[in-house]
Amino acid sequence: MRVGVGGFLVSANTFATQRIPLERFQRATLSGPEMLKRLGDGDGAIAGFVRGARQSGWDLVPLHFVFAGLYGTVREDAYQWAKQLFVDTLRKTGPLDGIFLQLHGTAVADSTEDCEGDLLGAMREVVGDNTAIIASLDGHANVTPLMVRQASMLIGVKTNPHYDFGPIGYRAAQVMAGMFDGSLKPVSAWAQPALVPPLQKLYIAPGWPMDHLMRLARTRAANDARVLDVSLLGGFFISERPETGISVVATTNGEPGLAVEIAEEIKDACWRRRHQFHADLMPVEDAVREAIATDEHPVVLGDVADSGGAGTPGDGTAILAELLRQDARSAVIGNIADPGAVEEAIRAGVGNWVKLTVGGKVDKFHGAPVPISGRVRVIHDGFFTAATKFNAGNYHRGPTVVVDCGGVEVILTSRQALVFEANHFRSLGIEPTARKILVCKAELQHRAGLAGIGRTFIDVDAPGLATQVLSRLPFSRIRRPVFPLDDI
Ligand SMILES: [Zn+2]
Repeated sequence: MRVGVGGFLVSANTFATQRIPLERFQRATLSGPEMLKRLGDGDGAIAGFVRGARQSGWDLVPLHFVFAGLYGTVREDAYQWAKQLFVDTLRKTGPLDGIFLQLHGTAVADSTEDCEGDLLGAMREVVGDNTAIIASLDGHANVTPLMVRQASMLIGVKTNPHYDFGPIGYRAAQVMAGMFDGSLKPVSAWAQPALVPPLQKLYIAPGWPMDHLMRLARTRAANDARVLDVSLLGGFFISERPETGISVVATTNGEPGLAVEIAEEIKDACWRRRHQFHADLMPVEDAVREAIATDEHPVVLGDVADSGGAGTPGDGTAILAELLRQDARSAVIGNIADPGAVEEAIRAGVGNWVKLTVGGKVDKFHGAPVPISGRVRVIHDGFFTAATKFNAGNYHRGPTVVVDCGGVEVILTSRQALVFEANHFRSLGIEPTARKILVCKAELQHRAGLAGIGRTFIDVDAPGLATQVLSRLPFSRIRRPVFPLDDI
């Protein structure tokens, strides 16, 4: 069997002012044998699929892996370039029996609202209806009926933060093998409640609403041999298309009625719990006061509106300004992305005092630039390895410095960064367990990544384009009415 393998991991914060340009796509694309060499091992979705494919002895045909990541809306020329890349390769490569495609599920371009559905459709057009196309999805995917129609099967991760990409890739290979030998005929149904949850509420851990709903979905899949998969996707509210929000994709072996029944059942369960998805935030001033007053440390303050995982600039300053105003002690600003300030600190050199104006520079939505003065304590190349089971691997924050302002240590990075685990701090000589207040730019990953360290977690209502208060964002394309934007 000849099976194509590729990926399109692009995510758009459609409220951000930046666009994802073509150059970023071109820089972030792997193709040919190099792609399989880089992604064929490890714990990613492609590695999981490759493992299954090798067991079956398939001939793997590398397509492309576009990983432009997360920022603003995708420029149309960038998306069209990527689509053409896949189409051209499929035309050249000759007939394929199957394709596995790893998708994020949240790419929106200037005039293509559903890039994944469009891409799957373009690929389907080349290979025809007899080729099995299975796509994996990130847990934040905003799934559309077009995506479901164009793929033979969609399969989403079941964790958040996500760490089961490998298993779902492997599962995709198992189902594909069944399609090849004629024993499986996946039939999917998609359903969606009128619910668009804030990202902070998608945490899958005991006591959280998604945990309960995901267990319901898993149980439904595990207890019935006719069910191939039930995927519950949390959605990504900052990437707006009509279908943004929670969705369910149920896949059965040739039983369309059963697929519909299960998708509707999980959809209804989500709807009944909608009131548990209200944002849970504390005003900046109160959060800082409470963190200073709390005995149990460290207190982890989540700068959820400027999460490094949400396509915002990562230079939000509201919590820093308030920590300085309330004269906090032993506090660490996990990061502010400000390459200019980093350069100034590097020029000053380790051990020297600097006066800088940091953050709040990319747009007007993330607080004003804040003047700080302190000693440059660390200059670092920005590389570190996250040791968590999710989001594991090597990170590059760009040249990074630590400026010690007395009570508040400020980490300045050259790039936006998701701040969510201990090695981010330790790589810079900061022991997180020895500090009173840690400020993290993340939406929920910090809760999992610092679970053994943080004693109290408070998500802060700082300004930002990933604000968890959805009513503050200028939604224009999402289906209405939808909870919590509408009181239904
Ligand atoms: Zn995700």
